[in-house]
Amino acid sequence: MERSEPAPIAARAEAVRSAIIDKGILTAEAFDGVVHLGTEEWKPENGARVVARAWTDPAFRARLLQDGTAACAELGYSGAEGHYIVALEDTPERHNVIVCTQCSCTAWPVLGLPPDWYKSPEYRARVAREPRGVLRELGLDLGEDIAIRVWETSAETRYMVIPVRPEGTDGWSEDELAALVSREALIGTALADRPPQD
Ligand code: FE
Repeated sequence: MERSEPAPIAARAEAVRSAIIDKGILTAEAFDGVVHLGTEEWKPENGARVVARAWTDPAFRARLLQDGTAACAELGYSGAEGHYIVALEDTPERHNVIVCTQCSCTAWPVLGLPPDWYKSPEYRARVAREPRGVLRELGLDLGEDIAIRVWETSAETRYMVIPVRPEGTDGWSEDELAALVSREALIGTALADRPPQD
């Protein structure tokens, strides 16, 4: 039999959904619930709120560094793939970056599902060996005086980066600050955005 062209992704996704439900692995309700979580509830905006709180509330920051899971849960972010969250504190001298060399683990409740580049064999293979070069290729050119520490996330431990708060943001609200923190900043392949200079 000749192989036909692969079906479009939407058709393949629907075929997988049908198979899982037909075999009784998940009910339709449970399946759609997971999809809802993955697309609506688990998102990097959650991690950005955690960072904004840490920037503005020193006591929260201390709790976040002490027990990331509990601190994220204070803001309502907990659950699947977030049972052991460890927050990594950037400083002007030290930058943290996360990778899962095995596969694609992220802390779902605060980072969302992993982006494609994070899952790519190239990123996974190279960032641990040559982080400075990989970050530069991704648009983050750190000075040689800034140490880079690479953290291997795993099925058990899920990291999030607390980037350095940008200068010029004194007095900003949590909402304004959270808007400066991208998914890439939470992974460590970008810094928090700087406010526009005039
Ligand atoms: Fe993984």
